Amino acid sequence: MIVILKIGTPEPQVKTVCDEIERLGFRPHVIVGEERTVIACIGHEKKKKDLYDLQSLDGVESLVPISKPYKLASKETKKGASVVKVEGGVEIGGKSLCVMAGPCSVESEKQIIETALAVKQAGAHMLRGGAFKPRTSPYDFQGLEETGLKYLAKARKESGLPIITEIVNPEDVALVEKYSDVLQVGARNVQNFALLKELGKCSKPVFLKRGLSSTIKEWLLSAEYILAGGNPNVILCERGIRTFETSTRNTLDLNAVPVLKDQTHLPVICDPSHGTGNWIYVIPMALASIAAGADGVMIEVHPKPEEALSDGGQSLTFKRFAELMAKLKALAPVLGRTV
Ligand code: PEP
Ligand code: MN
Repeated sequence: MIVILKIGTPEPQVKTVCDEIERLGFRPHVIVGEERTVIACIGHEKKKKDLYDLQSLDGVESLVPISKPYKLASKETKKGASVVKVEGGVEIGGKSLCVMAGPCSVESEKQIIETALAVKQAGAHMLRGGAFKPRTSPYDFQGLEETGLKYLAKARKESGLPIITEIVNPEDVALVEKYSDVLQVGARNVQNFALLKELGKCSKPVFLKRGLSSTIKEWLLSAEYILAGGNPNVILCERGIRTFETSTRNTLDLNAVPVLKDQTHLPVICDPSHGTGNWIYVIPMALASIAAGADGVMIEVHPKPEEALSDGGQSLTFKRFAELMAKLKALAPVLGRTV
């Protein structure tokens, strides 16, 4: 249920409404909008009818039931687009597109700094790179862990680019939060509910990838865990799903972009590197992602893709990444966006 307050409702009345919501067994989640304040009531569906009593309180204009199971992620709760602010002045979800680029894994100090400087030069807004790698095979490179985070921090210092890196375990949230500007939840962890709950308490934005076989509804319910935990800064990332098609590693589901834009206020990024699994297809699918309405792209870039410890086959060289940026710069104005 959403409680819509009258324009200009004074703070003490907002508090009285919140107290009453709590007394009825729900958690009030106050959303201060440009024009008016609304309060989402978080709690069990069964007791929803009790909330109609709130209508009699001062300051309450109307009550609107939310039909979607994901309450805080839904456009029913918040009409406009959410813009997530990242350290270093980067915004995700506004008019300006956000390009995140870097290697699949942080492999060495030299590799990550060299990549950071090259993608920055080409116009990227953020640096990506995994220090904790959730690999399908236990025999594959598992990442440099805290040493990798330290290299990322150095690359941030050298390039000025904010960092996005993956978090795998709930116990490591504080560690990764210390080094990273955005915490990435990978496709394999989209339903790691212990991790999602921990990230609800995190002060940094969370980049939530779609699971290999998540429906959009399941994915939004995963986002809901983080929002309901108290962290409003969630970015969704379509990274391809598993289908019967074997010509590409995954099928980048671009339908998801307009569907999400219709259903949620959260920003949407596409990852055509994992979505296709082949560098040859990355540039066209990155452009298609933006044309479909995505707020940006995440691209794997490596100084020498043929020597990469992970995902070399889907990584762009510096030169190809610069080509992609030039194409994005030409496309963006047609769509009313900037890069
Ligand atoms: C990654 O971004 O390197 C990664 C592991 O992605 P995903 O979780 O989408 O497979
Ligand atoms: Mn990868």
